[in-house]
Amino acid sequence: MQLFAQMDPVKWDQCGHNPVLLLHLLDNSQIEALSGNPDFVAYYQQVIAKFDAYMNGATWFQEKHPDQGYVKIAYFSAEFGFHESLPIYSGGLGILAGDHAKSASDLGIPLIGVGLLYKKGYFTQKIDASGGQQSELYPYDFTKLPIEPVLQNGQQLAVSIDMPGRAITLQVWRVRVGRNSIYLLDADHEANNPADKELTAQLYGGNQDTRIAQEMVLGIGGVKALRLLNIYPNVYHINEGHAAFLTLERLKELLHLGLPFHVAVETVRSATVFTTHTPVPAGHDTFSIEMVEHYLGPLLSELSQHKQDIVALGLDHHTGQFNMTHLAMNTAGLRNGVSKLHGQVSREMFKEFHGHIDASEVPISSITNGVHMDTWTAPQWKELLDRFLPGSWREEQANKHQWAQIEVIPDESIWKVHQQLKEDLVRYARRNLLEQRKRNGESEERIEEVRQYLNPKALTIGFARRFATYKRANLIFNDLYRLKKIINDSERPVQFIFAGKAHPADYPGQELIREIYRVSQMKEFVGKIVILENYDMNMARYLVQGVDVWLNNPRRPLEASGTSGQKAAMNGVLNFSVLDGWWEEGYNGANGWAIGSTGAADWAAQEKENTQAIYHILEKEIIPLYYNQGALPHQWISRMKRSIQSLSPVYNTHRMVQDYTELTYLPTAQRARLFVSNHYDVATKVADYKQFIRSNWYHVKIIGIDDRSAKLSTEVPLNEIKPSTKEITTQVHFGPIWPQDTAVEVIYYEENGEKWEQKIIPMEPIGELIEQMQSYKATIPAHLIHGPHFSIRVRPISSNFAHSFELSLVTSTLSWQ
Ligand SMILES: *Cc1c(COP(=O)(O)O)cnc(C)c1O
Repeated sequence: MQLFAQMDPVKWDQCGHNPVLLLHLLDNSQIEALSGNPDFVAYYQQVIAKFDAYMNGATWFQEKHPDQGYVKIAYFSAEFGFHESLPIYSGGLGILAGDHAKSASDLGIPLIGVGLLYKKGYFTQKIDASGGQQSELYPYDFTKLPIEPVLQNGQQLAVSIDMPGRAITLQVWRVRVGRNSIYLLDADHEANNPADKELTAQLYGGNQDTRIAQEMVLGIGGVKALRLLNIYPNVYHINEGHAAFLTLERLKELLHLGLPFHVAVETVRSATVFTTHTPVPAGHDTFSIEMVEHYLGPLLSELSQHKQDIVALGLDHHTGQFNMTHLAMNTAGLRNGVSKLHGQVSREMFKEFHGHIDASEVPISSITNGVHMDTWTAPQWKELLDRFLPGSWREEQANKHQWAQIEVIPDESIWKVHQQLKEDLVRYARRNLLEQRKRNGESEERIEEVRQYLNPKALTIGFARRFATYKRANLIFNDLYRLKKIINDSERPVQFIFAGKAHPADYPGQELIREIYRVSQMKEFVGKIVILENYDMNMARYLVQGVDVWLNNPRRPLEASGTSGQKAAMNGVLNFSVLDGWWEEGYNGANGWAIGSTGAADWAAQEKENTQAIYHILEKEIIPLYYNQGALPHQWISRMKRSIQSLSPVYNTHRMVQDYTELTYLPTAQRARLFVSNHYDVATKVADYKQFIRSNWYHVKIIGIDDRSAKLSTEVPLNEIKPSTKEITTQVHFGPIWPQDTAVEVIYYEENGEKWEQKIIPMEPIGELIEQMQSYKATIPAHLIHGPHFSIRVRPISSNFAHSFELSLVTSTLSWQ
């Protein structure tokens, strides 16, 4: 990107950092001048050589998994944030998908992206002179974006999907992300009627009808496009429920091959992975059943004998609605949340999918989000790291040992880089505000004033993210009097920079923007609290690289992960955050600050506690540490080092994508290959096995338990040491089910700190199976008594299951207490 910036810095900014548009805007004379400029030509050749080396270099995947050449992953996402010049993202979800794809390329992982190309992208935000958000939409010229049409026989590839009463045609585009391709679909095709052309006009625009149609384009159109490209992945990754319709298209393909419904579902499940990002039920996409039956009408009538079964895959029994997350949960073999805490919240939320089991056992794992280090780390920081870290730090960024070397970087060098980035940010912020005021027709005086705003020497706190209300952007304003004192200390000044978009339909979110704007206009805060307009990836880079502290104060646990703080951490910016999402696991007591405890449950109590904590920590810890400086704030810099050392190796997408690869992609690809081999032999066996177990499970009964606890307490004389364990036995009646196809377990709870933790002890069979009865034994702590203290359960197992509760059948003695 620096290469393009060098060509013409002014036009580069004007064209929104769009390299393709820039080349269109350059005059011939400019191009001639550049090609005659030896410095530029040398730089150009250097960039090209670096790119070639990147494309041809050895990769982690080749080296670590040389025998996995058959693996092919399709990653479906409604948004992708690659760069500010391709505005098909709205926030964290999209940036995550973009960063995921970039790391997949860096690591050599064969991942193919599928998404939508929105004609008008996500909206451009302007803030008017009263703090109101104006959202503006411009149609993009696809020929001037860093994308290319996918051609077949000289024609742009198009795919058709059935909608009620008509077919719609989707054009296929490609974005090259290093070694991998991302395919984007758009409905603005001449064959479509005017309303259909608008289907992919906006990201998260329109109503429920637009939404369901877009999700059909993504899921159904996406699978069809892959087929036209002759791509048959063995892993399908649903990135958030929006993309879950892909499983229905795949189901249809398999049913057309003649597979029975239950075998087709097992086959789909064996190859599907689902990542959920939303810790509140209201955040999941739902549609009424009528709507689903209407829109999926053509597909459902083609498969009319399975209509009820298909609809049931997405049915939420509580609400009677079709829920995209339910569809994904029911059709994905492996599922995960995006931080440890979010994994826990998701297990609670989807507990009922698996019958009566402890939330800790619900088969939803977690893979904590990260960010793409090369995208988010300032070039100046990378130069520093190049000088002081081992040469392999970029490739082996997830290796903690590499980062110990941070210690040897001189404080002066760190502070110089940090201070320079902060000055860049201040200049950028002033330009943004100047723009705002000029456009809003403000007075010359008001416009000029902006040039004095923000002090590059003051402690600077950043807050930028989507203005969703749960993120509580205005929390810091709860006590304006106290805030005034903090900000206006002439010895130790503090300033805040805010930015973010609110969804055009989110009025409370827009109210937050108005409130921040109003506070920023109060005379005590002028030039010390500012709100910038049109938060995008470009602005995000300035902010996460240039502030001193990154503030994040969502309602816990509503921030599934959060990633902007991870970007900040890589640039030596210290996190000051509620212990939610990634920060709950990232914070170690010495690498930033934690707001509030993890206990307060109700929103009001949490708000009160968090507010107090924010002011208190600012006054007593952050400000004194920052201003405790001679020439250099050594203690602050030391904390920056702690932060980079502990967080950079973990919260990057290399570590994240490696986790996805080893924990989900590889096992899934292997299972998918196994399931389809030999004419779907294993898929058929698994499906038949499940049917057999389901229809015969009622035979399974736990007949008797001998826990001898009563005898123990009377037989052992008081002065003898009681044994600490004892053996218990039980008898289980199985009917026609094989005991080997089940696990028999003792379940009890043990106090661990403030929590009760479930313990599981497997029971071993003793003796023979007699008259469909089998005995089992286990050794358990002596004090446990059946009923009040422990229970016994039986559940079906299979080595072909992706997880322990694929069949949510559990027979337990709990029910007979
Ligand atoms: C990183 C990023 C986000 C996500 O930030 P959160 O902390 O997860 O809310 C949103 N928007 C942009 C432009 C970003 O760069």
